Amino acid sequence: MTGRRVSVAVVGGGVTGLVAAFRLRQQLGADAEITVVEAGSRLGGKLRTVPLGDGPVDVGAEAFIARRPEVAELLVELGIEDQLVHPAGRQPLIWSEGALHPLPTRTLMGIPSTAQSVEGLVDADTLARITAEPTVPFDWDASADIDVASLVGSRFGEQVVRRSVDPLLGGVYSGLAESIGVRAALPALAAALDAGATSLTAAVTAALPTPSPGPVFGTLRDGYGTLLDALRAAARPHTILDAAATDLRRAGDGWWLDPIGHVDGVLLAAPAPDMIRLVAAAAPRLAAAASGIELASSAVVALALPNDAGVPENSGILVATGESLGAKAFTLSSRKWPHLADREVTLVRASYGRFGDAAVVDNSDEQLIAKARADLETVTGVSTEPVDVFVQRWHGGLPQYAPGHLERVAAIESAADGVDGLEVAGAYLHGVGVPACVASATTAATRLAARVAV
Ligand SMILES: Cc1cc2nc3c(=O)[nH]c(=O)nc-3n(C[C@H](O)[C@H](O)[C@H](O)COP(=O)(O)OP(=O)(O)OC[C@H]3O[C@@H](n4cnc5c(N)ncnc54)[C@H](O)[C@@H]3O)c2cc1C
Repeated sequence: MTGRRVSVAVVGGGVTGLVAAFRLRQQLGADAEITVVEAGSRLGGKLRTVPLGDGPVDVGAEAFIARRPEVAELLVELGIEDQLVHPAGRQPLIWSEGALHPLPTRTLMGIPSTAQSVEGLVDADTLARITAEPTVPFDWDASADIDVASLVGSRFGEQVVRRSVDPLLGGVYSGLAESIGVRAALPALAAALDAGATSLTAAVTAALPTPSPGPVFGTLRDGYGTLLDALRAAARPHTILDAAATDLRRAGDGWWLDPIGHVDGVLLAAPAPDMIRLVAAAAPRLAAAASGIELASSAVVALALPNDAGVPENSGILVATGESLGAKAFTLSSRKWPHLADREVTLVRASYGRFGDAAVVDNSDEQLIAKARADLETVTGVSTEPVDVFVQRWHGGLPQYAPGHLERVAAIESAADGVDGLEVAGAYLHGVGVPACVASATTAATRLAARVAV
């Protein structure tokens, strides 16, 4: 190392940006100047923990896939592994045709492996169609990508798409089977089909993960805010809030970026449309490669209800598309998570907004609260007045992994590769979940650290 201090900018203070700042601190050392610039008034992006009722509650992401190692490992690295908790394992439900049904089992993102798994949820004709599906000739184009609705609809029919697949894709991507491509969302299914599965039923069966004994989800006892605080404390970045990074341009060996000035390297951890705006002049190929990625907005209405409100003993309720109900899902948080079960209130999150339905997110707080209460009453019969409420809007909440997403990402990464001292990371690349964001941040920060270390 020479005596010069390395300086890097991280654009975007969501979990991707904060993990990147932490990795840069680990790899560049205590003297490096690491600046996180965040357009909003707080760090965390789509992770946000607020007080509700008698304690904290997450109003953005509320969990992570526990089968991926990234978050649990990060908690250990940050010394907050005692925060890790898992769900109680209660049954989730689906609201369809005006009634509650158990969530189908042995499905891949709601795509059934047998007719039996969606019995009761779809009609007899659809069940017969699923049973007969292996006998119907199947053309799968191993060189192409299609949307999930076209694949599932053509083999199993519309009811499976609307009642089983849409509710699950709505949960992960705020998406619809029409807005999500098979290859990025269901890589194991695509692999089984590419390998020559002769039916969708056979491909789903081959792609189903072997049941593992561990819990599927995890979260933090005191909310994701604990992770954000620990990341910030460990990364010790200079933080600029309420300031969108602009005017990115080459400056000698490094970059110029407002409002920071000259830096040796830049890590872009902002959502795709913001990243595109920022690099349009300095890296037009990168901007063009990311231009097809659309976003879905959503809103979360968190309700704290009296404990005697009669909330059902289920972890949550997903809603089929085409229902008159406005909500796309309810998380019955106090039932789902044992650490929330003995609070003085019963916590429920109602979620609104699927891809193409951004208007609902612009409803007033009063409208969204009224909708949440009415929808909860329709689905569960619970009409009790909440003791506390929080409304959170997520404009441009989740990127849609449309057909062709994998090629788009390859083009983005190849374009970014050609731009010295600039890296990209975030939910629009290799997965929208928090573990994928942690992985993406780690990869980008490691590459940038190797480039700028002197
Ligand atoms: C309602 C909801 C529920 C979810 N639930 C889960 C879940 O249960 N489990 C799970 O694993 N995942 C979940 N996710 C997904 C996950 O939360 C997100 O994908 C992840 O948090 C994205 O993190 P990020 O840092 O990449 O992006 P973001 O959180 O979007 O952060 C990017 C930041 O960049 C800032 N920014 C943009 N442009 C600029 C600029 N020019 N200059 C400076 N700053 C800029 C933005 O203000 C923002 O703060 C959920 C998402 C939503 C919306």
